[in-house]
Amino acid sequence: MVIAVASGKGGTGKTTVAVSLAIAAADQFFEKPLLLDCDVEEPNSGLFLDIDYTSGRDTGVPVPEVNLEKCTYCGRCSEVCVWNAIAVAGKKVLVFRDLCHGCGSCGLVCPEDAISEITHVTGRIEGGTDGSINFARGILNVGQAMPVPVISSLLNEYLPQSGSSTVIIDSSPGTSCPVVEAVSRSDYVVLVTEPTPFGLHDLKAAVDVVVNQLNIPVGVIINRDGIGNSDVEKYCHMENLPILAKIPMDRRIAEMLSNGIPLLSGLPEYKELFLNILAAVREKVQQ
Ligand code: SF4
Ligand code: SF4
Repeated sequence: MVIAVASGKGGTGKTTVAVSLAIAAADQFFEKPLLLDCDVEEPNSGLFLDIDYTSGRDTGVPVPEVNLEKCTYCGRCSEVCVWNAIAVAGKKVLVFRDLCHGCGSCGLVCPEDAISEITHVTGRIEGGTDGSINFARGILNVGQAMPVPVISSLLNEYLPQSGSSTVIIDSSPGTSCPVVEAVSRSDYVVLVTEPTPFGLHDLKAAVDVVVNQLNIPVGVIINRDGIGNSDVEKYCHMENLPILAKIPMDRRIAEMLSNGIPLLSGLPEYKELFLNILAAVREKVQQ
């Protein structure tokens, strides 16, 4: 069972929920769950766990390298590139690595077989364990603009070999390509929101992507319940979206998290709430 935790906006408590679900799963089941931090621009979930990293490697985008001894400057590579990442100017072929999406089209159309691929390093993936949870994360290098290849490498490397029946994915916030990449292989998506107009607006956007575009079932967690109004709840009822849990506005949670203490370690009374969420998700996935 692969559960992705996502949110239409940042700061809703997505990482807190992902880490708490992993800790609850580790308590509940006999095997180690796998927590994958796909929020590669801010991979914070490992900060709450005492991870001993045992593996890691650089990752990136396969970009073209042109052999000028073979090149005839025909320009076909430039014509096929919708990203304008390769240009032919006179007797020069310019490759703009930061624009390249690694699609390989230029190499396919080159009539002289003058294009090979090299890796443009944009980030790193690494994995380890804290003893009860297997953990892996992607890290996008500073200044890089494309998180998707790092997320893709992380999922390709750690998802198939996880051996865990429970995998929790901490996705990026928002509704753009990194979120689609992170959640598209999951069985169920937990959307974390807060009961405010902003929370409702961004929840609707997330539901549109995950349910309407990707056709993945979702459940909603309302975090900081009590701070706003009941519009999120009304929307969920109207759209037939299950509300998996409401986490109350509790100052102690903020204090724990600001000290790097996982919610369930600092406030174990919340453990049952997360065990119930896991049970509810498992039932819905089995359905
Ligand atoms: S398609 Fe090949 S031969 Fe033509 S300009 Fe590009 S690299 Fe050179
Ligand atoms: S690999 Fe794709 S994106 Fe990159 S330069 Fe070639 S055609 Fe453009």
